[in-house]
Amino acid sequence: MRKFRNSNDHLIVAESTIPLGSQTFSKSRTQYPVGISPLFATRAKGPHIWDLDSNKYIDLVNSLASVTLGYGDKRLLLDIKKQLKKGITLSLPTKLESEVSELIKFLVPSAEMIRFSKNGSDATSAAVRLARSYTGRDHVLVCGYHGWQDWFIGSTTRNSGVPVAVSKLTHTFKYNEISSLKSKLELLDNKVAAVILEPMNQEYPNTGFLESVKQLTHKAGAILIFDEVITGFRFSKGGAQEVFGVKPDLSTFGKGIANGFPLSAVVGKKEIMLEMEKVFLSGTFGGELLSLTAAKNVLLRHINEDVCKDLFNKGSLLSKLTDSAIQENNLSNVINLSGHPTWRFINWNAVNTFSIQEIKTFFMQEIFQEGVLVLSTHNISQAHSEKIINKIHDSYYRVFKKLKNAIDTGSLRKELRASPIVPLFNVR
Ligand code: PMP
Repeated sequence: MRKFRNSNDHLIVAESTIPLGSQTFSKSRTQYPVGISPLFATRAKGPHIWDLDSNKYIDLVNSLASVTLGYGDKRLLLDIKKQLKKGITLSLPTKLESEVSELIKFLVPSAEMIRFSKNGSDATSAAVRLARSYTGRDHVLVCGYHGWQDWFIGSTTRNSGVPVAVSKLTHTFKYNEISSLKSKLELLDNKVAAVILEPMNQEYPNTGFLESVKQLTHKAGAILIFDEVITGFRFSKGGAQEVFGVKPDLSTFGKGIANGFPLSAVVGKKEIMLEMEKVFLSGTFGGELLSLTAAKNVLLRHINEDVCKDLFNKGSLLSKLTDSAIQENNLSNVINLSGHPTWRFINWNAVNTFSIQEIKTFFMQEIFQEGVLVLSTHNISQAHSEKIINKIHDSYYRVFKKLKNAIDTGSLRKELRASPIVPLFNVR
């Protein structure tokens, strides 16, 4: 049986100097029940990650969907080693910034100009500020998760520390419910600077939904922003905007743009991007060279090899095998999958007397024992070979069988070796 002793011990050490013991909410004990989970990693390679107790896992989290080629990709590392000798951050801009910008412009339908940053939150915040400056308006409509900055997080339940005056400027609307956008736009007549949404997360857009969003946004005199921090360089080399054929005014990228190196980008129409001459977006590390080197390698890979098709095929196979493991164990009323094959969501239902959190915690407890690291989504990378995917299926099959038995016999709660996860904050 896999043990997590070193992870558990280190949590105490980590929390003595680091609030939550993690830099990232989604990597913290808020998501991984203590006692049944690996809490700290030591290294990763290809499709695998190792924890502090030397347990090895197939990684379906893939650094929160930032890894698309697999960990430690050899060709990428060669370029990084070369760049390392030349410098990481220099005192002047470099040509690499334009080279990567040109590659993005080539790949992304709406990209006329590009600015780089480090986190997805930097890019979404820059896009919103650009829209506010360009339109001279303050209000923003949001749909999805857009990062940790005040303007967005103030609209969620996790809004502590955000001035009320700021929260009041952000309003949510519902995906695939065009009437929810329409009514907010009407209510805030002539006040909306931007409509920002994830072009897709759990659900595919209904026919005409994204087109209607664009049309209503423009009719209201606002800027349309697609947050492609996850969908970019994952759904397709041109992002969800290419898949669904709708061009936003601005879009934001991060995660998969540099296979785990910290890089994000705001891209869009030249006329709006040039507002950047007035708007202040600036950071010491915006032109940092290792991440740009990684991005160049990744983007060239998208141009020369069909990375996203490979991700799609692998994700589709995993979805198919997961569905069959669900059906073979008669669990369709408890688990279902939704979303794009490359970023597929695992959805849970409460059943009998068991809550979603209890069922999900039972699943985590058992799947971690199988050596598969998975949270709420399948974040596919190219390193998930057919052999690896078949292994995941076998693990799912065994875990679902146990889950079915624990539900049917009523023993699920008794079998839990940790407190169920607490739903602290629904990011979507
Ligand atoms: N937008 C979306 C769609 C995201 O998924 C995320 C991160 N999960 C962000 C923005 C924020 O990115 P970051 O965490 O890199 O700031």
